[in-house]
Amino acid sequence: MRLEGKVCVVTGGATGIGEASALALAREGARVVVGDVNVEEGRKTVEDIKKEGGEALFVECDVSREEGARRLVEETVGAFGRIDVLFNNAGINITEGSVPEMKVEDWRRTFAVNVDGIFWCSRYAIPEMRKNGGGRIINTASPSSFVGWAGNAAYIASKGAVMSLTRAMAMDHAKENIRVNAIVPGLILSPLGLNWVQQQEDPEAVKESIHPIGRPGYPEDVAPVVVFLAQDDAEFATGAPFFMDGGLVAS
Ligand code: NAD
Repeated sequence: MRLEGKVCVVTGGATGIGEASALALAREGARVVVGDVNVEEGRKTVEDIKKEGGEALFVECDVSREEGARRLVEETVGAFGRIDVLFNNAGINITEGSVPEMKVEDWRRTFAVNVDGIFWCSRYAIPEMRKNGGGRIINTASPSSFVGWAGNAAYIASKGAVMSLTRAMAMDHAKENIRVNAIVPGLILSPLGLNWVQQQEDPEAVKESIHPIGRPGYPEDVAPVVVFLAQDDAEFATGAPFFMDGGLVAS
């Protein structure tokens, strides 16, 4: 019960990495708030936590909008009185094609969710963390924060921004006991990851060969590093990427 008494907000907690992490945080005693646009699956995550005896709340919100992030923070504080951990995990990967070919609205929407989402949620959560003497922010970066590939420029650029923003926020809040780190999942077979795999020429080969360790990742592979970064033992870490990528970036 390493997170007993803590309140953790998980954006994008309806499915995939966010869902597995919300459950893992709750199993360590945290009260968990799931913020997501996917109402049905978001409520299901919360019900699953409650079935295991945990405390949780679902807030329908679009993190790309100031209003959504404000409501997420207000409802969290209204229900549980504080915010200790913000897991900025909501993200999309909708883009196809290179800069001249992609739709301008895909470029803008990708940045709105993947980058503005972190900006808005952090902007409202940090003042609440300050009231309690500190907090933990965990942002979901990507191998594409470090390496490139063809046909996915908006997503790759947005995840580069996630890593830069992680470093900048870590510096801004270092003296306030607010630690800001990033997780770097490899190819994870969440709905988002599976959708990407299905667009590849040989999906089965990609799943087996993309990671040097020879298997794809699952949301449950990533959740333990989120739990680690949320709790007090991670106090000395800030501004850093934590790779859970089967060796992908190293390769
Ligand atoms: P996912 O699609 O299962 O989860 C993303 C969640 O974000 C969903 O629940 C979705 O409803 C929610 N969401 C989307 N737009 C939102 C918005 N505007 N406001 C609130 N919620 C919103 O996929 P996942 O793989 O679990 O993705 C989680 C994060 O991990 C994303 O940031 C993604 O970019 C990142 N990531 C995924 C992989 C992978 O291979 N799956 C690899 C590296 C990084």
